[in-house]
Amino acid sequence: MATLETDYLIVGAGAVGLAFVDTLLDEDPDCHITIVDIHAKPGGHWNDAYPFVALHQPSATYGVNSMELCPDRRDTRGHNAGMFPLAPHAEILAYYSKLMSERLLPSGRVEYHPMTEYVSREGKAHTVKGILSGEDMTIHTRRKLVDGTWFKTSVPSTHTPAYEIAEGTRFTIPGELPALWKDTSNLPDHYVIIGGGKTAMDTGVWLREAGVPADKIGWVRPRDSWMFNRKLLQPAYHEIEGLVKFQVDLVEAANAAETGDEMFEELGRRGTMLRLDENVTPSMFHYAVISEAEVALLSEIKDVYRQGHVTRIEPGKMHFASETVDLPENTLFINCTATAVPFSVRNNARPFFDGDTITLQLAQVPFVPYSAALAAFLEANFETDEEKNNLAPPAPLTDGTATYPYAVMANLMSTAILAGNEKVNAWNAKSRLHPTGPAVARMLAEGDQRLAKLATIGDTIKANMPGVIKLGMAAKEIHESTEPGWKAA
Ligand SMILES: Cc1cc2nc3c(=O)[nH]c(=O)nc-3n(C[C@H](O)[C@H](O)[C@H](O)COP(=O)(O)OP(=O)(O)OC[C@H]3O[C@@H](n4cnc5c(N)ncnc54)[C@H](O)[C@@H]3O)c2cc1C
Repeated sequence: MATLETDYLIVGAGAVGLAFVDTLLDEDPDCHITIVDIHAKPGGHWNDAYPFVALHQPSATYGVNSMELCPDRRDTRGHNAGMFPLAPHAEILAYYSKLMSERLLPSGRVEYHPMTEYVSREGKAHTVKGILSGEDMTIHTRRKLVDGTWFKTSVPSTHTPAYEIAEGTRFTIPGELPALWKDTSNLPDHYVIIGGGKTAMDTGVWLREAGVPADKIGWVRPRDSWMFNRKLLQPAYHEIEGLVKFQVDLVEAANAAETGDEMFEELGRRGTMLRLDENVTPSMFHYAVISEAEVALLSEIKDVYRQGHVTRIEPGKMHFASETVDLPENTLFINCTATAVPFSVRNNARPFFDGDTITLQLAQVPFVPYSAALAAFLEANFETDEEKNNLAPPAPLTDGTATYPYAVMANLMSTAILAGNEKVNAWNAKSRLHPTGPAVARMLAEGDQRLAKLATIGDTIKANMPGVIKLGMAAKEIHESTEPGWKAA
């Protein structure tokens, strides 16, 4: 059996594993890193995503610290017009390939084994298996194993639907929709999107923009969702006012509310959070980001089924637990039921740093790549697990309106802890993955007038903190006593 030695063995070459490696390379100039991943190319789940997927947050703070992911300009057309770019699928994959071939591998300190599965460990000896060769290899870690698979990201192409599909039913996944041009003599008469999350929203936007009239689309949405208004979450240097409004709205709404739902209602009134239907109170909140133009487009779809989960589909019929809906015979059902991040992973939360294992999770919700890069910075710059874990306790992965106030409270506490550490503060100021760090540093250097407005945020947070903590603690109790997916009656 082949054997090799390395300092850090990283399992997973997705956004998380690669953000960690990229920062570790800079922060620890001596270490050797080995990456294994079952995919053939870097980029993790983006390899399996539907071709019209794009980031829903601006690209400016996604990816890795050392490489920009988007041009520094606004989009001029489409539903993102006036805002900063959202990298599309192909661009994300090209970005990670370029990172691997132009930075990580040429460093001479990174070894990458694609199509290789991590199997097991015995202390510092780790067994990995080549997917095609079937051969095992032992990797000895001089320092640590880094688990970059904690999020268990799920996309439609690798997800099995939980409902029955009768023979002869026209059924597909979002990734297959662009192939409809291949048989124009057999186009569907009707489309039904199954699922209420961001993939379903992307699919609705795609169908509408591809020319499908809204009345030819049905949408199964067991739960509605609140979403961040993208116009407020633009790159900080260009749109600091939006981020200030966002933060102020969040703490004022939390302070004034008795429940998470009340907080969201207020955020909805302020335009900070968006929903698809003003007459429906959403109970889901999965950190999706959307533009007002997308909401307008999606709101035109009026055939929304809220009877719960689909149990079976067949030509011309869709069954729910206690109801059957008739549809045109030639309906195409589109499965969008994969949950990007299965929220049940929250039950596996553990300290980031535990002896010779690092588990990459969220230090702040929902900053996925930033949290991984932060873990690398802490690993290289602090001595003990205790010190590192105190700086980065895992953030709660809340998934609903009742529990989100807990995440708001935890994020504010994490921000205070990290800002109180001089080394981390200095690193944040140059970390492109940090939502405001480099922007504030640049404004300071330029003596930007907008800093005066920014400086008032601290007082607003302080003034509202008692209410944020009260609501956050109540939400924490709900989060800890209920299962993922729970919703208030
Ligand atoms: C459609 C979609 C859009 C999204 N948009 C955004 C966004 O705009 N902003 C944002 O912050 N987040 C977004 N997310 C969330 C997304 O989950 C994270 O941004 C991030 O990509 C997760 O990366 P990851 O590395 O944790 O997971 P993955 O991309 O799944 O990478 C994990 C890797 O580990 C590998 N692996 C697993 N087990 C093993 C094993 N035993 N051996 C070897 N390899 C293994 C897998 O092959 C995979 O390549 C989106 C998610 C989806 C699905």
